[in-house]
Amino acid sequence: MEHQIYNIGTLAYIDEQLDELNEEFGDLPEKAEKQKVKADKAKETVDETEGIINDINEFISKARGTLVELKQREDKLKQQQFQVQNNKEFDAITNEIAFIKREHSKLSEQMRKEAMKLENLTVIQATQVKEYEEQQKEYTDRLNEIKTITKTQTSEIKSLSRKRETMIGKIGQEHIVRYERIRTMYGDAAVTISRTSCSGCFNSLPAQQMVDVRNNLEYVYYCESCGRILLPEDFEVDEDYVDSL
Ligand SMILES: [Zn+2]
Repeated sequence: MEHQIYNIGTLAYIDEQLDELNEEFGDLPEKAEKQKVKADKAKETVDETEGIINDINEFISKARGTLVELKQREDKLKQQQFQVQNNKEFDAITNEIAFIKREHSKLSEQMRKEAMKLENLTVIQATQVKEYEEQQKEYTDRLNEIKTITKTQTSEIKSLSRKRETMIGKIGQEHIVRYERIRTMYGDAAVTISRTSCSGCFNSLPAQQMVDVRNNLEYVYYCESCGRILLPEDFEVDEDYVDSL
């Protein structure tokens, strides 16, 4: 029962399956790429915070050293004060000690503020790390999704492409050329007649053409409006046949 028009219908069915498989991919790669940008941005934020935290740690560590030095200088000056010869020298040292004390307290205060900042930033960074990990996981999930689909698709596409080749071998070359040309414009190059119309463009068909399509199954008729190949209204794909290909 391999009439020319049935073979074309079967080919169109196989192409429909292939198109669906290719569409399944859809915007997944684009989505994955967008997700990667998000994850990278989240990572940048984490790194930025990390940079500030490092700066503060460096400041605190330096300040700690400076505070020790100031204290040592103060102690030394206090020792010197015992040995001064006159009031002028005594006053000079007193002033210097007062200056050092002010510096010490100024730096201590600054250190306290920075330590508080550090504490806050550590909490903020923990949240940022969590956000980054979530974004990164979503990116990995998307990649895996693509991988899974690709894996299933590869075998299905291979099988369908083989069936396609088989069908092409059964159809006249001139029809294949025309079929492929229609395919560049419409995904569905061969469509059934629906009541009195072409189900591709919905234009009415001449009554005689409908009779011809029904009766001459070895002949190929085209819709005069859209150019698609017309399949008889009762055409149905024989799935068992497709499976056996
Ligand atoms: Zn049409």
